[in-house]
Amino acid sequence: MIVDARRLPDGLRLDADVVIIGAGPAGITVAMELMGAGLTVVLAESGGRRGDGGDGFGGEAVDPRHPPPGLYRARALGGTSTLWGGRCLPLDPIDFEARPWVPHSGWPLGWDHMLPWYRVANSYCEAGRFAYDVAGSLGGNAAPMVPGLGGEIAQDGIERFSPPTDFGRRYRRALARSTEVVVLLSATCTGVLAPPSRRAVDGFVFRTRPGHGIQVRARLGVLAAGGLETPRLLLAAGLGNGLVGRFYMCHLEGKAATATFPPATPVVFGYERDGEGIYLRRYFRAPAEVQRRLGLTNSILRFEPPVIADPGHGDPVLSAMWLSRTFLKAEYARKMASFGYRGQEEPERARLLAGHLGNVAAGLVPLGRFGFDWVRRHVLAARKLPYVAVAGRGGIHTVDYNAEQAPNPDSRVSLGDRLDPLGLPCLKVDWRAGAQDVEGALAIHRLLADSLAQSGAGRLEVDMDAIRNGYNATGGHHIGTTRMADGPERGVVDADCRVFGLDNLYVAGSAVFPTSGHANPTLTLVALAARLAAHLRHRARQVPAAEFSFAAPPPVP
Ligand SMILES: Cc1cc2nc3c(=O)[nH]c(=O)nc-3n(C[C@H](O)[C@H](O)[C@H](O)COP(=O)(O)OP(=O)(O)OC[C@H]3O[C@@H](n4cnc5c(N)ncnc54)[C@H](O)[C@@H]3O)c2cc1C
Repeated sequence: MIVDARRLPDGLRLDADVVIIGAGPAGITVAMELMGAGLTVVLAESGGRRGDGGDGFGGEAVDPRHPPPGLYRARALGGTSTLWGGRCLPLDPIDFEARPWVPHSGWPLGWDHMLPWYRVANSYCEAGRFAYDVAGSLGGNAAPMVPGLGGEIAQDGIERFSPPTDFGRRYRRALARSTEVVVLLSATCTGVLAPPSRRAVDGFVFRTRPGHGIQVRARLGVLAAGGLETPRLLLAAGLGNGLVGRFYMCHLEGKAATATFPPATPVVFGYERDGEGIYLRRYFRAPAEVQRRLGLTNSILRFEPPVIADPGHGDPVLSAMWLSRTFLKAEYARKMASFGYRGQEEPERARLLAGHLGNVAAGLVPLGRFGFDWVRRHVLAARKLPYVAVAGRGGIHTVDYNAEQAPNPDSRVSLGDRLDPLGLPCLKVDWRAGAQDVEGALAIHRLLADSLAQSGAGRLEVDMDAIRNGYNATGGHHIGTTRMADGPERGVVDADCRVFGLDNLYVAGSAVFPTSGHANPTLTLVALAARLAAHLRHRARQVPAAEFSFAAPPPVP
C-alpha cells in the first residue's frame, strides 16, 4: 500500500514490526526482501512520487571540491536512484581486508560472505549476471582494451550498467500491492522515540507538513536515509557513539592524462554489450598483489570523452552538450564545468562560447546523426546507452581516474547552527582528502604510463600537478559516516549493521562501509540491504511482539 502521509490525521499513531526510514535503493531493497516474512513494515519516505531534488536537505560543505550537500541526492520514492547513472561494480576482495598500509581499513566480513548478496543486488539493479571481468562478461576471446599492453597494470576490469533502474518506479507496483508493506510518502523523520535507558528505540516521529505529524512505533528500526541524512538523524537524536559522522569518504575523481597509441591501434574505448544486452565499460586497475607490494590504495583509470568545457577537442557533440548544460540536471551540468579546466573568467567564457559555437557550426551533419542515435538509444530505450563515448582525435584518448579515499576520522559531517524548515539542524560537511588518497591517484597513472612505455603499446602523458591540485570529491558517493566494525571503539554499527549500544536500530546504505574502494557504492549497499533484511527476518522472531499490534493507516479519501 502507498499512502500520502499528508492526508493522514494529525497526531496519528501507528505500530509496525519494522520501520524503514528512506525509500532509496537501500530502503526499498530492505522492504522488498521483507515481503513474505509475515512482518508488518512501514517504509517512510520524505519525498513524494516525483523527486524534488535534495535542496530541502540543506547543509554546507567546507571544501569547495566537495559539492554543496543539497546536490547529488534526491528526495523521492526511489531516492537518488531517480538521478543515478547506473554504473555497477562490486568492491574487490582486497577492499574487505585489513591492509596494514591503510589505517582503519578492514571490514568485519569478507568478500566470500558478500558474494551471494552481490548476486541478489545485481538482480535488483538489473545489471545482468554477476561477472565483472572481460572473460566472464565477453568471453575468453574478447580483444584486449589496448593490444600488446603488458606490465603491472591490469586491463580486464568491467563495469556493468543498470538500465538505470529507478527503484521507485521499478518496485512501486510491488510495494503498492503488498499487504505487508505500507509506504508513507511525504513523511520526513524528524525524531526518534527512545526509552529512558536509550538502549533501544521505541519508534519515530514524522513531520508531514508544517504543523502536522504522525508517529510510528517500531520493534525494529532501519535508517536508510542516505550516507548524509542517516548520521544527521543519529546526531540530532543524540544516538550512536562518538564516531557518528566521522570517517566520511567520497572518491577522488578527475581527468589529468591523455593516452596516445600508434595509428590504427584498435583500442576499445566505448560501451560494449554482453549477450544479455547489458552495457559494459572496461577499466584499468592495479591488481591486488601490486597494491600490496607498493602499499597503494585501490584506484582505476578509464577512457572518457575529453574535457567537455575545452572547445579544443573539436567535437560538435561535446560542444553541443556544453552549450546545452543549463538545461541539464545540476549534477550533470556541474561535471562539464569542472575537471581541471578552469575557464570561468568572463573573457575566457566568451572565448569558450565562440569555440563551442564554431565546433557545432562545423559539425552539423555528425551532430544530427548523433542526435538521432541518442534519442533512439538513450531517450527512448528502456536500457539506455549510459553516456557519450567519443573517440579521441588522432589516436589521443582522455583518461579519467577514480581513486579510493582512505578512512580518516577527521573527515566528518556534523550538525551546523542553521535549522531546516522542519526544525532539524542542517549538516556541516567537512570532507578531507589526504596525501595517501592523492598518492593513490598518482600511482595508478604511473603504473599505466610505465606499462604502456615498457610494452611499446602507447604513451601516457600525465599532468601530475593537475591531480595534486585538481581532484574533486565524487558527487553522490556518501560513504563511511556510520562505519561497520567489530567493536564500538572502531565503528558505529556491528557486522549485522546494528548500531552499537542500541538493541533494535540498524543502518542500511553506504554509510556503513568502513572503506570506500574505487567502486561506485550502490551495488554494494543494495547487497548489504538484502543481507540486512535476512537478518531482520531472523531477529524479528526474537524481539518481543506482545505489546505491538499493527494498526494500518485508515483509508484516506
Ligand atoms: C548524478 C548521480 C549519479 C550517480 N551515479 C551512480 C552510479 O553510476 N553508480 C552508483 O553506484 N551510484 C551512483 N550514484 C549514487 C547513488 O545514487 C547512491 O549510491 C544511492 O542512491 C544511495 O542509495 P540510498 O538508498 O542509500 O540513498 P538515497 O538514494 O539517497 O535514498 C535515501 C532516501 O531517504 C530519504 N530520506 C532522507 N532523509 C529522510 C528522513 N529524515 N525521513 C524520511 N526519508 C528520508 C530521501 O528522501 C531518499 O529518498 C549517483 C548519484 C548521483 C547523484
